[in-house]
Amino acid sequence: MKGENRSPMPLAILHILLHVAIPGAAARLAFRDTWLTSWLIMTSAMIIDVDHLLATPIFDPNRCSIGFHPLHSNTAIIAYTLLLLVPKLRLLSLGLLIHVGLDALDCLRMGAA
Ligand SMILES: [Zn+2]
Repeated sequence: MKGENRSPMPLAILHILLHVAIPGAAARLAFRDTWLTSWLIMTSAMIIDVDHLLATPIFDPNRCSIGFHPLHSNTAIIAYTLLLLVPKLRLLSLGLLIHVGLDALDCLRMGAA
């Protein structure tokens, strides 16, 4: 059937771009005066993908990160949510939640959530 054997790589590239663009849009909308700093802080949440280094293969475009990688576990997501309560960490928390939200969307695409 048409499209069945398409590579997931273009979607993986789109996924990475969204990890940069969505925090950028959120920063522009919610933090107009400090959007650049806000964007950088929220985008820095991508550091949690360091947990991919523990997996084999490190990158699998067909693997759902949520619940698989330690920094993408439900416990971690609860901790990221609790960080909203700490004013100085609120932007980082928002970035982390946007990050796991985008990863969760990817899981929906795979039918894994
Ligand atoms: Zn991730």
